[in-house]
Amino acid sequence: MGIGFTYKCQCGYSIEPHYGGGFFSESYVEEEIKKGKFGSKWKEFRREHPDLKIQEDGVLCFCPSCGFFKKGFDIRFVKEIEKWEKYELIASVEVPCDKCGAEMDLYLDCEDEYVFPAYHPDWQTRRCKLGGIPRLRCPECGRTLKRGGAIHWD
Ligand SMILES: [Zn+2]
Ligand SMILES: [Zn+2]
Repeated sequence: MGIGFTYKCQCGYSIEPHYGGGFFSESYVEEEIKKGKFGSKWKEFRREHPDLKIQEDGVLCFCPSCGFFKKGFDIRFVKEIEKWEKYELIASVEVPCDKCGAEMDLYLDCEDEYVFPAYHPDWQTRRCKLGGIPRLRCPECGRTLKRGGAIHWD
């Protein structure tokens, strides 16, 4: 389940991040990891830990050091510790900034518990921040982006 917003600038620039799961399947992410899309470190990690489950959420990545932002994923390797979707976080894939190389912060710009039930045990494995997204500056003209209407999916 997830939610998406459009962030727009007066100049016409816009970006539409998709927050949450369900947009890409676990097998799609698995293939991308095996192809090395997230770096050889994670390709190798997957080879060494084929038993771990992969979780992924669409997020907005924001660089705390230079302000660059982009759409991305919070991808985690987790171990099932109990039945009924109780997991332990083993590792999460870092997202380096395209502009300066610093590690980016990951955000879900939504505090709706119906969309992202914060009390679900599964939540504990996530590394992305819930809400509190920093001010987004248009990469083309520098003005502040405004958040528009939401789209939901199951
Ligand atoms: Zn940066
Ligand atoms: Zn602009």
